[in-house]
Amino acid sequence: MDADCDVAIVGGGLVGAAVALGLLQQGFSVQLIERGGAAPRVLDVNDDYDLRVYALAPVCIALLERLGVWREVLATRSSPYERMQVWEDDPARALCFDAADVRAATLGHIVENGLLAELLWRRLPAAVARSGLQVSAASVDDDGATLQLDDGSRLRTRLLVVADGRDSKLRAQLGIEALGTQYEQTAVVCHVVSERPHRRTAWQRFLPSGPLALLPLADGRESIVWSTREAEALLALDDEDFLRALLEASQHVLGAFTATTRRARFGLHLQHAEAYVAPHAVLVGDAAHVVHPLAGQGVNLGFQDAAALIETLVAARDAGRDWASPRVLKRYERARRADVLDMLALTDGLYRAFRAPLPGLASLRALGFAAVNAAPPLRRELVRRAIGAR
Ligand SMILES: Cc1cc2nc3c(=O)[nH]c(=O)nc-3n(C[C@H](O)[C@H](O)[C@H](O)COP(=O)(O)OP(=O)(O)OC[C@H]3O[C@@H](n4cnc5c(N)ncnc54)[C@H](O)[C@@H]3O)c2cc1C
Repeated sequence: MDADCDVAIVGGGLVGAAVALGLLQQGFSVQLIERGGAAPRVLDVNDDYDLRVYALAPVCIALLERLGVWREVLATRSSPYERMQVWEDDPARALCFDAADVRAATLGHIVENGLLAELLWRRLPAAVARSGLQVSAASVDDDGATLQLDDGSRLRTRLLVVADGRDSKLRAQLGIEALGTQYEQTAVVCHVVSERPHRRTAWQRFLPSGPLALLPLADGRESIVWSTREAEALLALDDEDFLRALLEASQHVLGAFTATTRRARFGLHLQHAEAYVAPHAVLVGDAAHVVHPLAGQGVNLGFQDAAALIETLVAARDAGRDWASPRVLKRYERARRADVLDMLALTDGLYRAFRAPLPGLASLRALGFAAVNAAPPLRRELVRRAIGAR
């Protein structure tokens, strides 16, 4: 077929941009189409922190290193964290995960969405990554895919990568269904200053109304991700009352808080596509799966999709095979599906376990926490999984 490019990626969020950059670096001809207005603004260290931050696992940091952006992340700002403290009723009996348990320097890094987007986009030539352009329709045939763009033009590609997020229109146009639900919880996010230092620790308390996470930022502040059924009430409070509620909910682990930013909210979803591939098309990131942020895994899963897709296509091409064939694409799906389903089950299971007010369940959970803390091999295994080590 007469294709305009090898691979067209629709959606220039973190996952789509990572796929585009990775394939471009490997010699594929690539087009990235993003409907958002301007490319992300240049991030200056003096800019305030983006309200959306991610706890990036080492396995994703390895991808960013290969893409050549990790050094710039470190040179701008990121916050390594070495410990996680997870508790329910009593912070003194928290479940403690320590990087030292697996002889790692860190469990991961807290990094801003805006910084990652900026650094990935900065490396993509303007002729490859186009913003302010929407794909209005897509269709596949025996040779490839055709995209209809809202400027009236058409793009032919051998492979279509669908990276257009949770509400993916292209997924539906390819006839792939996604099952899911909206959680009753909404995440309230903001950054605060605490009385006591965070000591490079990520804190998470499971409350009956939802999990509260306090993530360490590089400038000493904490990023709050409070997933709760009471989001409306929390958003309506003035700063003083909100900070008092936060102090109470965090059981004083970091002392009193001072507000530094506005509060924003995000709806929370569980969603999974019934297939990740169709002829000449693959799904990556939130277009394929959406998880509750309680384990901080959404973008981590998406970056792992990106890494697996790049690896699969490059291996097939280098072996002289048809890298856009259904057989090769299925290999990508097999590589990702089990991992993603494990994470969906884990996050949804935790969500349900901690929300259920069933008698006896609370003491079972407390027993579980104590058992994990008392069994170093089990704790090490959980830490290994958390950092993506095999
Ligand atoms: C409160 C909250 C906290 C979170 N915390 C974490 C965390 O700690 N760790 C973690 O790993 N994850 C976290 N996540 C999840 C994470 O934000 C997502 O998993 C991630 O952003 C998904 O990236 P994506 O590139 O797949 O999709 P998106 O970021 O949704 O990008 C899709 C892109 O496609 C574009 N697009 C859509 N349709 C079209 C079209 N027709 N044509 C052209 N472009 C189009 C959109 O404009 C958008 O830029 C959190 C999420 C929430 C809500």
